Amino acid sequence: MFFRTILWLGVALLLQACSSTPGKRISVAVETYPPDLPVVTRAEWGWQPLERTLPEHEISRVTIHHGGVEVGEEKDIVAYLKNLQSWSRSEKGWIDIPYHYIIDLQGKIYEARPLAYPGDTNTSYDPRGHALINVIGNYEVQKIQPAQVDALARLSAWLIARYELGLDALASHRDYAPGETVCPGADLYRLLQDGSLKRLVSVYLGK
Ligand SMILES: [Zn+2]
Repeated sequence: MFFRTILWLGVALLLQACSSTPGKRISVAVETYPPDLPVVTRAEWGWQPLERTLPEHEISRVTIHHGGVEVGEEKDIVAYLKNLQSWSRSEKGWIDIPYHYIIDLQGKIYEARPLAYPGDTNTSYDPRGHALINVIGNYEVQKIQPAQVDALARLSAWLIARYELGLDALASHRDYAPGETVCPGADLYRLLQDGSLKRLVSVYLGK
């Protein structure tokens, strides 16, 4: 039994050595989240490790986006994330999904690009220093759901506390790219304009 174990260990090590290309798998920091912020981690949804990186940045803002494409309840979010990751890399030449977190229609939060690296954009603002949250859907035409607003507020509060920022760090894409985009869409932007999102973030910050 002992020798069989050793043999299997040897085979496993050999397979591991054959399958990894030195220098190709970049390890990234694993985040820990509080119990009231259930996040689907990169490992849980099958994210592919980075093949290259960007210079690291210091987070000073939390910036909200929407997907810009109307989606329904039937959306397979894991398939969507995997497609978005491969499209970002092969079509756009980006290191990864352009956002750090994705929120689905049910308010489930998924990790995407590691926070250490700045995101990407098709507009002209500089995403360095921004933690980017993307809510899938098009809120020019769809209504934002209460579970999504709750997830957005909890995640924003966690980021604000983690990086020791103020509530004024919370804004949306159109605030940084005026005239270039309607992102995050009228129904989501309304919550930033009327102060209700920041009020909810304050509650979760315990202020
Ligand atoms: Zn955007």
